[in-house]
Amino acid sequence: MARFTLVCNECGRRLDEDRTLYVCPSCARKQEPGGPTRGVLATEIAEEDLPRRWPSARLEDPQALAVFLPVRGPGSFFSFAAGGTPLLPVPRLRRELGMPRLFVKDDTRNPSGSTKDRASALVVAKAIEYGYDTVAAASTGNAATALAAAGAAAGVKTVVFVPATAPPAKLVQMASYGAQVVPVAGSYDQAFELSLAACARFGWYNRNTALNPFTVEGKKTAALEVARDLAPEEPDAVVVPTGDGVILAGVAKGFADLVRCGLLRRLPRLVCVQPEGSGAIARALRSGAAAITPEPSASSVADSLTVAAPRNAVLCLKEVRASKGAGVLVGDEAILDAIPRLAAATGLFAEPAAATALAGLLAALEEGLVDREERVVLLVTGTGLKDVPAAARRARIGPPVEPTLDAVAAALS
Ligand SMILES: [Zn+2]
Repeated sequence: MARFTLVCNECGRRLDEDRTLYVCPSCARKQEPGGPTRGVLATEIAEEDLPRRWPSARLEDPQALAVFLPVRGPGSFFSFAAGGTPLLPVPRLRRELGMPRLFVKDDTRNPSGSTKDRASALVVAKAIEYGYDTVAAASTGNAATALAAAGAAAGVKTVVFVPATAPPAKLVQMASYGAQVVPVAGSYDQAFELSLAACARFGWYNRNTALNPFTVEGKKTAALEVARDLAPEEPDAVVVPTGDGVILAGVAKGFADLVRCGLLRRLPRLVCVQPEGSGAIARALRSGAAAITPEPSASSVADSLTVAAPRNAVLCLKEVRASKGAGVLVGDEAILDAIPRLAAATGLFAEPAAATALAGLLAALEEGLVDREERVVLLVTGTGLKDVPAAARRARIGPPVEPTLDAVAAALS
């Protein structure tokens, strides 16, 4: 097994693995209700256990993956095909944008259709190691769906707290996996607080993003795969749609681990993209503020990115700045426009949050934050089938035609 320590991102305190440990106990005393999570813990694999070369097996092979992750061994993983998604060269989008080294990491192909499956796979593996029979989470939708899917695959009970306003496809999907769905008549932030209280009361393991240290760690596999697929070349910049900041922190952690292993020379710049209506982290990056200002009335067509107080803001700001990256804000209209543009140029149908990556790239090009010649990776985090009504706002579908060739010819002209 890869031995590891949990290190507080705020005070640097080092803690041993413990089944009931989520955040640094000292920094957690500074927690403000509804504010970013204090004392977020990072997983640090022991120096002598770090792999010094790429495993010979593919990264989705548990044997290969286990050396990079804090699990007891390959046997901790169960049959659930999270990760191992393709890095697409997207030739038509490259030509359209004049970016010959652009790539798309297609995470829509995860089992439940989003990047969140990577985190859920690791958290459920840890829940089994720790002997929990139930895992709970609060989520805007995708993380809960991913937890429900992983729990179904592993035979672990799941309870998920989601805003009742989540897209119906997500609610139906998580219920179909057999999760106990608790639709909350309130915001994601309220669902988050409720899930914390429920876990404390009922003794469940908590998968909440930015709270459970293994959510960041699970999502780092996206970065490991990007680096391995590009090697011996390296990415210059990675564009990451951002809500709570956990996917971005996970991607940053993956690249940082590879630099520690000597498998990557330098960190790519991380471009944090947020919607104008829910942009606390990107705004702090742009203004140079030390901390975020919560946005209580956050709202965006990208439901997965809509949070008032991004829970992993502290770590996310630190990682983007360490990478010499930047924050970008995009409007809902630009996000909706990016859905058919990405789909028509690549064959990839993304939900609004995922299409935000392309909208963010366009904004970053305009602001000179990325160069057209650079090796840039867009992380496309979730399938468009999760929110068809949003995509429908830009889909052009004509009226029905009579079933005759003349009518077809007239409709086509
Ligand atoms: Zn601390």
